[in-house]
Amino acid sequence: MMTALRAARNPSLSVGIFEKNSKLGCNTQISSGSLAAGGTRFQRAAGVVDSPERHAEDILAVSKDEASAPLLLEICRAAPRYVEWLADELDYPVELGLDMPRSGQSVPRLHTDTGRRGGRVLVSALRSAVHRTASVAFVDNSPAVRLLGSADGVMGIEVASSNQRTTTVYARAVVLAADGFAADAAMLARYCPDAVTAFYGGASTSTGEVMRWAIGIGARTRNMAAFLGHGLVVAGHGTRLNPSLPFLGAVLLDSSGHRFVDERGQGYSKLAAILRSLPDRRAAIIWTPQAHEAAMHSELMRESAAAGAFTCYASIDALAAGLKLPPAALRSSLTDHEGHVMTAPLYGTWVTYGILTTQGGLEVDMTGRVRRQDGAAVPGLHAVGGTAAGVSGPSPEGYSSGNGLLAAMGLGWIAGNYLAAA
Ligand SMILES: Cc1cc2nc3c(=O)[nH]c(=O)nc-3n(C[C@H](O)[C@H](O)[C@H](O)COP(=O)(O)OP(=O)(O)OC[C@H]3O[C@@H](n4cnc5c(N)ncnc54)[C@H](O)[C@@H]3O)c2cc1C
Repeated sequence: MMTALRAARNPSLSVGIFEKNSKLGCNTQISSGSLAAGGTRFQRAAGVVDSPERHAEDILAVSKDEASAPLLLEICRAAPRYVEWLADELDYPVELGLDMPRSGQSVPRLHTDTGRRGGRVLVSALRSAVHRTASVAFVDNSPAVRLLGSADGVMGIEVASSNQRTTTVYARAVVLAADGFAADAAMLARYCPDAVTAFYGGASTSTGEVMRWAIGIGARTRNMAAFLGHGLVVAGHGTRLNPSLPFLGAVLLDSSGHRFVDERGQGYSKLAAILRSLPDRRAAIIWTPQAHEAAMHSELMRESAAAGAFTCYASIDALAAGLKLPPAALRSSLTDHEGHVMTAPLYGTWVTYGILTTQGGLEVDMTGRVRRQDGAAVPGLHAVGGTAAGVSGPSPEGYSSGNGLLAAMGLGWIAGNYLAAA
């Protein structure tokens, strides 16, 4: 939708969005909607000094993917522009998350909707804008089923409609924006075997077929083993906890009741890999009522609360009994990062590891054009968002908070601007 809206600024273009099934939903819609951007007016108003360059440096320090640096910088330069465009042109109610510290982010940089309702607000702002734009058609329940062309040039797609017929759509440019392959068991086993046993918290529509077609005509891929993992998935519930909790003093304990990790030193994707390496692949997390009050200002915590995914315990004994932790070890572990002893009442639950979406994909050039094996662009073929290789490096440890929507919105912005000008 971002690409379509930007491309449609050129009045000579007609744009069609063929959507598999909007009722099944997309990852943007179920995401927290946190948009990472460095150098916005929202940051300036809050006295936060930041820039696209600093944003890119922070990401590279975690992803260690030097080869991605030039495109990453372009994407980070786009980020403050589209965050302000979302606010000004689409009436998306933006606020800077000053209370959303994240590992690897040197300054507050996540922007959200003012009510913290998550990605559905973002999707509805984009979809309303699409519907207002006469030269963009949104065609629902019409999955792409085939890519027309070869590495020498793509000329359109075939789409299926609900009456079992297929329609051929010829186009001067095809933009693949169908996200990754986390919902496809075979592709996951092939490229991200560590994620196969993880809880899957993404959309059912991320089945990777458009990526397979592009690979089939000779497109190059990058970083296919990378994915967005999550180490704060509540065991037995599948809801997530607010990633700010460790910064609010929450502690993580293994099943023997001992701390095993610097809670604030890990991004939640890296934490997923750490939990996976524990013998029973889960950890207890414990936090204070003060932390709880601050953390509840997020759609994640509200969902977890509604699901009954954590409990407030009136005493340490009740906490030990509720989480089945050895009381003596538990007591000795209840000291937060500042050295304060945590006293009851305390909140607690068990968390495990999950995968939300994949981060590897088709290699693209500086304008979002898909590269083929010899490095040249496949004429007429572009990829954005999770279908393109993201900015999180080669492994799940390389993900920085906000990288997913950065690749979706940022590459979408860049590709749409390119198409409008081309
Ligand atoms: C629970 C969760 C929370 C997250 N929170 C954040 C966050 O706060 N910040 C952040 O930066 N990232 C977050 N992410 C990651 C982020 O949501 C994704 O990286 C991003 O939404 C990907 O955008 P996309 O446009 O590539 O894919 P999507 O938003 O998934 O859109 C892809 C669309 O393509 C459609 N489609 C698929 N196949 C076909 C086909 N064959 N034909 C036609 N249509 C097709 C799908 O139906 C879907 O509508 C989160 C992810 C999850 C799952």
